[in-house]
Amino acid sequence: MSAQALPAEVTSEETAVFPRLLDLAYPNVERGEGAWLYLTDGRRILDACSGGAMVTCLGHGVPEVIEAYTAQAARVAYVYNHHFTNDAQERLAERLIEVAAPEMARARFVSGGSEANETAVRLARQYHVERDDASRWRIISPAQAYHGATMGALALSGRPALQRPYGEYLPAHLHLAPSTRRLDPTGEAALDELDRLLEEAGPETVAAFFCEPISAAALPAYSPPKRFWEGLAERRERHGFLVCFDEIVTGMGRTGSWFAYQQLPIEPDIVTAGKGLGAGGFPLAAVLCSERLVEALAQGSGAFDLGHTWDGAPLPCAVGLAVIDLLVERGLVDRVRERGPALRDELEAALAGTGIVGKVRGRGFLLGVDLVDPRDRESFLPDELDVAELVDRVAFEHGLLVTSTHSTPDGFAGDATLLAPAFTSADEELAEMIERFAETIGEVERRVEEALA
Ligand code: PLP
Repeated sequence: MSAQALPAEVTSEETAVFPRLLDLAYPNVERGEGAWLYLTDGRRILDACSGGAMVTCLGHGVPEVIEAYTAQAARVAYVYNHHFTNDAQERLAERLIEVAAPEMARARFVSGGSEANETAVRLARQYHVERDDASRWRIISPAQAYHGATMGALALSGRPALQRPYGEYLPAHLHLAPSTRRLDPTGEAALDELDRLLEEAGPETVAAFFCEPISAAALPAYSPPKRFWEGLAERRERHGFLVCFDEIVTGMGRTGSWFAYQQLPIEPDIVTAGKGLGAGGFPLAAVLCSERLVEALAQGSGAFDLGHTWDGAPLPCAVGLAVIDLLVERGLVDRVRERGPALRDELEAALAGTGIVGKVRGRGFLLGVDLVDPRDRESFLPDELDVAELVDRVAFEHGLLVTSTHSTPDGFAGDATLLAPAFTSADEELAEMIERFAETIGEVERRVEEALA
């Protein structure tokens, strides 16, 4: 079908798809190229969020990825992991550990972030069961986070607005209220809260501490102070729980190192990666674990019996291999590390003097802008204004794709916008992204002031 034949915006009355918001007219994407998306009505959108969900870290339409995909599909696209292994899977696991996560011993591949985090929880639980420590099942995790849409992953964060009305399906894990820099400049408040939760649950019932080492959409680019991570490592040692990091967004270079944990004074026992691993070429995520987990299973049942249909299939793994090759060959993780701090400064400078911008944070190519009430430049914006949605809409009108989170109804954090451009974005494209975003915020501020007047 030609681009012209498709409507520019598609409403739920015109589509057989069950869309997220039934009353929203969805813009229709025809193709993508590098940092740009082309709509069927001829508009060109600058993609500042890697496809909208921090996925296409190499940009859109990458010839090398398409070639790898095509070649693998011609050889063998799919076999089930219960019956076979395959070269693409074996090589991807080796390469991932060698290049990106030398601290880890083994990898298991799945199709997406929720599956990866569910797998991490099962692996943590099985580790304890294999060691005759079956009383450990609870997970402690920060409340203001996102770990996925499936019930197990949903239970890992503690956000009422996301969990309603599924509370009955979610296991009773324990959650730390967020400790932003302002509330907890040293990290000690979060450690006190962690101690309180360990005490309340009984440390012998805790299987794992689960978190994003550097937050993505839920608290963009936020990471607790160094002392928190040191204190977490001490408590792991003392109490025997595992540390699991969700690096679905931050893995594969997004924050300027292959994994974000490599910037912290702690190594996880289990870490997940997704999004940028398949880079939009195919659904792909991974769970990696350290040697002591492998040993516990090897000396116990000798199995980790869990299988999703597409786990480790040749096609997604060939795409993952091509992505790693490109990241290495083009030195893209170094580029993100070197360019990231200036990008953050440029964004902050462009937003200076704006009444609705609180904090600007940045780690590599993961940038976060906290939005605040312009009347005191501190409080969360009123829930009913849903400024997160307004920012995304106005940005789109300015030809820019960003992703904002309306966290206010959860009560832990305000609205915030995330920018996560492709690592391959040219300097001029990054400058244009900042310019368009500053125009967006200026217009949003005017509209918010009118609404509050
Ligand atoms: N973890 C984090 C930090 C995420 O941002 C996401 C998705 O946005 C997920 C997990 C879930 O990944 P998926 O949507 O692929 O299941």
